[in-house]
Amino acid sequence: MPTYCIFTVVMSSVRNPVTPESLVRPEILALHAYHVQPSPGMIKLDAMENPYILPESVRAELAAVVSSASINRYPDASAATLKDSIRKTGNLPSDIDILLGNGSDEIIQLLAMALAKPGATLMSVEPSFVMYKMIAAFTGMQYVGVPLAEDFSLDMPAMLASIRTHQPALIFLAYPNNPTGNLFVAADIEAILQVSNGLVVVDEAYYAFADNSFLPRLGEFDNLLVMRTFSKLGMAGLRLGFLAGPRNWLEQMEKLRLPYNVGVLPQRVAEVLLQHHDVLLQQAAQIKADRTWLYERLVGTVDVHAYPSNANFILFRLSHAGKVFEGLKQRGVLIKKLDGSHPALADCLRVTVGSPEENERFIKALQESIHQNI
Ligand SMILES: *Cc1c(COP(=O)(O)O)cnc(C)c1O
Repeated sequence: MPTYCIFTVVMSSVRNPVTPESLVRPEILALHAYHVQPSPGMIKLDAMENPYILPESVRAELAAVVSSASINRYPDASAATLKDSIRKTGNLPSDIDILLGNGSDEIIQLLAMALAKPGATLMSVEPSFVMYKMIAAFTGMQYVGVPLAEDFSLDMPAMLASIRTHQPALIFLAYPNNPTGNLFVAADIEAILQVSNGLVVVDEAYYAFADNSFLPRLGEFDNLLVMRTFSKLGMAGLRLGFLAGPRNWLEQMEKLRLPYNVGVLPQRVAEVLLQHHDVLLQQAAQIKADRTWLYERLVGTVDVHAYPSNANFILFRLSHAGKVFEGLKQRGVLIKKLDGSHPALADCLRVTVGSPEENERFIKALQESIHQNI
């Protein structure tokens, strides 16, 4: 005991206190952690989740593969079976390779880690998915966010000028874009691919709800990669995303992937779910139909400006967005408040398309909440 005390005294006399501020990189200290709103008991329309559960028969199949999965073993590091199912479902040609991630967030991080030479730039547009900017900070890349035009389309003169000036190593374009919901003009993305000396990653997190895709265009450009996730398709809890692209690129990214980043259970479960891709696409078709219903109700609501969407959510602008958001919460409906997150999103809220009942409850709560704040 006495020796222990002496040891403590000696230690504290030879150095300053060890604090996060003394060791953590300043750009990390400056970040705010990604905040997830608590939502117990609420109608949850904030995170682009699929509102539907799986049919009983598919759930029974899942139960069977889970119960027989070898969780005592490390997963197949190459995930060959799962990659094969992805290849078949996506109709990918054999010269196109696949990299799996623990959600597509992990893939964004892998790409940034691989390209983060000193001074290298990661570019995206604003407003868009916030993880691009955050991951640029995580990996020490310079970040450039080119403002979108007022209708949230790509501002091509600004985009091309910015690419020329900053020569980004990596450009992320969410297609459809989050949180605005629109698809950029495909010819604009082609022009970006043509002038860019860096990689262009088309992030198709919402492909199941969209009218167009760059997946069939893989191989046409030496700098095009397409990223997809199963999260918005109804498997957010699984944490599985993939990157598809030319082999020479994917083999470099593969070196940075931690060997067992996708567990045994997500691999087995995703294989089964891909055999039932039609079921998931049917759910997506239902969500698209309900999106039309929801959009029309929003457009028909006094004081609301709704933006057309190719995704499973709708962005809308209205007066007193903050108060209306609180009013919705008081009525048990959680959506996403974007007001305050970016100047272009002043007075904007974003609602995920839920089940028809949830959508109706949302519209009713919205109308009451707007009325209360007029
Ligand atoms: C939700 C989302 C992702 C992240 O997906 P995960 O696979 O769940 O990590 C990626 N990109 C965009 C544009 C998204 O909206």
